[in-house]
Parts: sequence; C-alpha cells; structure tokens
Amino acid sequence: MVRIRNFAIVAAGLLLVSGCGHAEKKQARTAGHQIAAGKKARTAPRPQRPPAQRKIDCDRTKCVALTFDDGPGPYTNGLLDVLKQQGVRATFFLLGQNARAFPAAVRREVMEGHEIGDHSWDHPQLTTLSLAAVKSQIQRTQDAITRASGGVKPTVMRPPYGATNRRVGQTIGMPLILWSVDTEDWRYLNTARDTRVGIKEPQPGGIILFHDIHKPSVKAIPAVIAGLKKRGFTFVTVSELFQNRQLKPGQTYSELMPPKTASPAPVTASPPPAGSPAGPAPSRSGSRPQQAEGH
Ligand SMILES: [Zn+2]
Repeated sequence: MVRIRNFAIVAAGLLLVSGCGHAEKKQARTAGHQIAAGKKARTAPRPQRPPAQRKIDCDRTKCVALTFDDGPGPYTNGLLDVLKQQGVRATFFLLGQNARAFPAAVRREVMEGHEIGDHSWDHPQLTTLSLAAVKSQIQRTQDAITRASGGVKPTVMRPPYGATNRRVGQTIGMPLILWSVDTEDWRYLNTARDTRVGIKEPQPGGIILFHDIHKPSVKAIPAVIAGLKKRGFTFVTVSELFQNRQLKPGQTYSELMPPKTASPAPVTASPPPAGSPAGPAPSRSGSRPQQAEGH
C-alpha cells in the first residue's frame, strides 16, 4: 500500500517552501505544533487526503490490476477521466523525470485512489548500472513523486524492461512488480489490437501492462474496461491485489498466485534410490523474472 506520510502537514509545507527537500522536512516536524496551537490553522481549509486502500479479497474475488508505465504524459489526464467515470482504480509506474514534468497529474492520480509505483528516473536498464547509480535512480524518483503528490511515497517498484537481478533487487529495496499480460502496446500502437489483447488475455489475479504515454493505448482503455467487466473482473491496484500476501523487497511478482494450502504434503513411503533424479525443480511461484524491450 502507498504510505501516506504526514500528508496534510507536508502538503501545507509545500505551499510555503516549494522545491526544497530539507526545508520541507523541517516544516513537517514543526507544523504539528502550529496546528495544535493556532486558531488560524483550525479555520484554514484542510487539504484533501487520498482515499484509503479498499479491502478486497482477491483470493475469492476475480481481480485484475491495470498498470500504466512511463508516465505521466500528455494523455494521462484523459485516461484519469475514463478511470474516474468507470470507477476503476489502477497503478501507475512513474518515471521520476515525468513526475517532475507533470506534477498535477501525479497529484490527481493519488487523489483519485490510484497507486503510484517507482519506475526509475529515466528508464535505464538497471542491471547495466553501478549499484550507486541504481540507488540514485530510485531515490531521485521517490523524492520527485513524494514532492509532486504532496507526501505519498511509492512502496512498489517496476524495473524498466523487467530487468533485475539479486543485487539490483536488494539495492532497490522494494517488491518488484512485473506483469502477467504484456500487451506490447508500445510496439504496435494499435487501439484495436490493444483492446483485443487487453480483454482476452487476463486471468484472475493478473497484472496487465499498458503505457499511458501512448495515445492508442489510452484510447483502448474504455473498451478494455467494458470487456473485462463483462468477464466479471474487479479492478484493483497492485497493493490491493497482494493485500493478503507479504511481499518481500527485491523479489519479483507477476500475478497473484493461489494461497498455499494448509494440507500437509503427501508423505513418500520410501526415499528415492541413490543417484536418481530428484524430479522437476519446484516452480518459483510468483517469481517470473522477465526481460523484454520497451517496458
Ligand atoms: Zn517502462
């Protein structure tokens, strides 16, 4: 879930000291006293808060998570209009440089109940960078998003191209959210195709990857939503999808896997003969590292 850190206080601080992280923190530490002591503060309009995460049991409900990467961009507001009209919450994996360029869109995403994730500052393949550079990519983006949103800090990350490894994952320090349906919208830039794939391919617990920086993708979303509603899906954010799971920092997740059953594993009567193959390796559920172009 997105962590809301001193939301009202930081927002108030931002009005006074825009663009300075240190001053912002100082303001956050002292603003509590001002609100408690001053009559003025009580009569001032209270900043609006983002809506809380909903309780939806996706082990029993047919859930799907729409995700949009690489924004915000010029088409994001139009997409937000559609999502609002349809009562759909989504997850946006933002580039830090675009969060800085379109702060109002970031703010709107948060205030309308969508989740914000970190997608790096400017979309490098993180596995090719030094760990110091990875750290910088993440930290700068976290700071830009926190500033643009008025205090909301992402708790999930999507590495560009889905490219990660153990060291990069450890450095990022957040759960890494991949996808189960890659629409490849960036490759085809074709609304009809995006619509077809977006409706047909998702399975319960799935995560669909789109990009809100492409106009054809955004144009496909009303029909995709209608089609998935017809299939009986409930739209959730990534953190809502995984709310019954403990996500681990640095681990990749591409969909909600069924919960582990409580029943004990069958007991084998005798150990396998020495030298025999141990059988297929256990599948790493929920972990499907991927690497592809254009995400
Ligand atoms: Zn991307």
